[in-house]
Amino acid sequence: MHTHASPNVGPVAPSAAADAPLVGVLALQGDFADHQDALHRHGVQTRQVRNAQDLQGLHGLVLPGGESTTMLRLLDADGLWQPLGDTLRSGLPVFATCAGMILLAEKVENPSQRSYALLPITVVRNGYGRQFHSGTFELASDVLPSGTTGTFIRAPRITRTGPGCDVLARRGADAVLVQKGPILAACFHPELQPDAHPVIGRFVASVRQRAASTVRH
Ligand code: GLN
Repeated sequence: MHTHASPNVGPVAPSAAADAPLVGVLALQGDFADHQDALHRHGVQTRQVRNAQDLQGLHGLVLPGGESTTMLRLLDADGLWQPLGDTLRSGLPVFATCAGMILLAEKVENPSQRSYALLPITVVRNGYGRQFHSGTFELASDVLPSGTTGTFIRAPRITRTGPGCDVLARRGADAVLVQKGPILAACFHPELQPDAHPVIGRFVASVRQRAASTVRH
């Protein structure tokens, strides 16, 4: 996971036009730089989000993987808890992986911790046990191309999905990719796979739609 400092307006991929949609990536901790690289591969611009002002004018927002307890602490320390919550509730397309998904879950276990409670799911942190902690697994899905895989790293396990939450992919019997309205969340890390991943493609498509239908706010 990268933690190196980079400019606030992140590097723009050579292929991303200056008027390409702009996606904010929460950059307090975790694998935000990998998310930026993956988004650039899909031709959109990115901005590292570290304060409330960075949340203005976005067409989409990513909550990366990392360590959710640390993220909570940094959100409080930087005064971002409230403004980030407002943005998450605004209807903007959101993509959250792993620790990011934990921040959005209605209920968090092992141990329990505070969250935005925007996704009607229960997650158990590090819920796959030692043996199956990490690795790349094939996903079962009606909306992703067959053979799509997901890389899991100390992943949370979804143990309940509530009403209004669509399950888009499973690993075995477990939901691992869920969506509620504009919010898409994965237990795994498509941003760490080297090629354009269909899950990021799906998110970027919703970002492009948003950019086409709205002016930046
Ligand atoms: N285990 C981490 C947590 O509980 C999540 C791991 C990840 O984001 N890859 O926050």
